[in-house]
Formats: sequence, structure tokens, C-alpha cells
Amino acid sequence: MRTRDAIDALRRPLRNLRLSVTDRCNLRCSYCMPEDTYAWLPTPEILRFEEIAALVDRFIAVGVRKVRLTGGEPLVRKDLPALIRMLALKPLDELTLTTNGILLEELCGELKAAGLTRVTVSLDTQSRARFLKLARRDLHAQVLAGISAARRVGLPVKLDTVLIHGVNDDEVVTMLDFAAEHDAELRFIEYMDVGGATHWSMGQVVSRKEILDRLAVKVGPVEALPGRGSAPAERFRLPDGRAFGIIASTTQPFCAACDRARLTADGQLLTCLYATKGLDLKGALRRGDSPAALEQLLLDTWGKRSDRGAEERLALREARGPLATQSELRAQPHLEMHTRGG
Ligand code: SAM
Ligand code: SF4
Ligand code: SF4
Repeated sequence: MRTRDAIDALRRPLRNLRLSVTDRCNLRCSYCMPEDTYAWLPTPEILRFEEIAALVDRFIAVGVRKVRLTGGEPLVRKDLPALIRMLALKPLDELTLTTNGILLEELCGELKAAGLTRVTVSLDTQSRARFLKLARRDLHAQVLAGISAARRVGLPVKLDTVLIHGVNDDEVVTMLDFAAEHDAELRFIEYMDVGGATHWSMGQVVSRKEILDRLAVKVGPVEALPGRGSAPAERFRLPDGRAFGIIASTTQPFCAACDRARLTADGQLLTCLYATKGLDLKGALRRGDSPAALEQLLLDTWGKRSDRGAEERLALREARGPLATQSELRAQPHLEMHTRGG
């Protein structure tokens, strides 16, 4: 039941919740987890499914309408379909999941039956050798099999592709062709200077402008589609009618319309992808705060929100570099993209 909509200090509502269900992952993407070892969240700190469901109720009460499960790799969380079954009973417009696809072939039938609305698969290349270099595991075929299997069971699929200069920037057209063959809309994501991306540099970012210029030369005029609303992706149409998206978080951020909150697997609420401090919601839940008290906590925290993280990063111009060093990340694992949920 809705009580009162949370509205932040910049008049932005809270509509979307990115829910990280684990900080563990079965890949080691160079732009997210480049190190050999990590400090993991302690298991007793990880929210149980009942705790997640209870918190989602409180988020819904203050305005959340869409929930996206993420991680780490959400499909490595044991019994994830059981959580989806619990969340599918909630009054949500969308219940989606972002995955690297490795375990999707095995789980897509159960995920669909559990009530998942759609799945977004992160796939950056058509080349097995490049995948191995990018993700440090020889599992490209599993991802492709996962995408095909999801379509076979009737689960709608989106694809997310991070482009990096000198790595996969020559795959703009082939990735769009692959997406069309699999009846999936693709979104290109600009490489972001988030926590974990310790090797980030502006020179590696393939910008929105560059993607559009390249497509204009190779495929023909690209038309911008209206109706973005608060979505991070801008949508475009190719001359043959195919639609695709660009998430230009690095060169053209969209903080002004941002209605997204993140909940880490250990129950910290982050009001921005770049936030350095979170609110300990798990602590409040485990000490027995009432539903009304938790909702008030959400209303107060969101009410004070004035985050514009990506816009502030953009304003750094030449001074821009990785958000945090490896030692800072070791000391504060909550800064990691794989902990806060991309
Ligand atoms: N493991 C799942 C996956 O890869 O889809 C979910 C979590 S992952 C952190 C979510 C998304 O963040 C992925 O699409 C990934 O490509 C993206 N991501 C991670 N690091 C990034 C970076 N430095 N810049 C842009 N996108 C990044
Ligand atoms: Fe790659 Fe996602 Fe794992 Fe990060 S969390 S290393 S983006 S698969
Ligand atoms: Fe929202 Fe923060 Fe991302 Fe800006 S940087 S769009 S405020 S999460």
C-alpha cells in the first residue's frame, strides 16, 4: 500500500530500486573487477529474502514502481527464483534482472515462471577471445546460450554493451546485428569512472557522439526517439526501423531526472551511484523498527537527497580519473560497482 511519495530536494521522486542480491561474481570484467582478490561482504550481513521482501514493501509504500535485481552477479545467489516469486506478488510495474548471462540457460525457465518481467544481459563482444580478455573467464558460449534460452522460454531480453576504445569499439554494428537476430533491444553504455573501474581513463570512453557518428557513416541517419522520461537510456532508430539505446552517463549525464536508489546486498541504501555514504537500512530493520518508522526513514533520507554524482564527475573535466584507488576500495568495499549494483 502506498503511503506518501518520497520526493528529494531537487523534486525528483523515488520510483526505481536497484537491488543488489550479492557482491559475488563469476566473471572478472576489466572495467568492474580488475583485481585478483576482493574483500567480500560477510555472509551474516547479507539480507535474507524475507528481509529484502520486507524492505521492498517499504520502498513501494514511498513510491517505488520498478525493481531491478543486480549484483555482483545476481544469478549466483542461491535460490534466486524464490526471491523473484516473493517480489512478483508485490504491486510493481516491472521486476527485472541484470545478469552476465553465464547461468541464464540453466535458470531462465524458473525465472520466467517465478514472474520476472524481463532480463537484461550484459554482453560486450561477439568474439570469444575478446570475451576471455575482457572478463577473464572462457565463458562466452554460455552467455550466448543463455540469451537464446531466455528467448526460447519467452523471457523478453535487453542487451547492455560497454564500449571501450581499442577493446571492442569496432563492434557497434555487429552488436546491433546480433541484438536484432535475438529479438533484443541493445543499449550501449559509456564506460564510467565508478568505484572498481581502477583502470578508467577518459581516452578509453566511447562517447554517445562517437557511437552516433559511427552509425551515421556505416548504417545511415539515426533518428532520436521521444519519450525518455526518467530512463537512463536515450532511444534511437536506425533507417531500417531497429531501435537501440545509449546510456551516456559519462559524457551527458541525466541526473536531473534520476529517480533511482540502490540497496546493497547488506542493506545499505545509496541515493546515487557515486555516493560515498549509505544509510544502514538493515540495521534499522534488524533492530525492529516498525514499517511506519522505516518508511519515515526512507522519506527523510530521500527528502534530503541532492545527489548529482555523474554531473559532478563531468565538471571535473581534465582532472577526472578513477573514482577510488585500489586501497580506498579495499578499505571501503561499498564503493565498488559490484557491491552497490550497477
Ligand atoms: N553482473 C551483472 C552484469 O554484469 O550484468 C550485474 C551487475 S553489473 C555491475 C551491472 C552493469 O554494470 C553491467 O551491465 C556492467 O557492464 C555495468 N558496468 C560495470 N562497470 C562499469 C563501468 N565501469 N562502466 C560502465 N558500465 C559498467
Ligand atoms: Fe562483470 Fe557484472 Fe561481474 Fe562486474 S558484476 S565483473 S560487470 S559480470
Ligand atoms: Fe542518478 Fe547519481 Fe547516476 Fe546522477 S550519478 S543519474 S544522481 S545515480
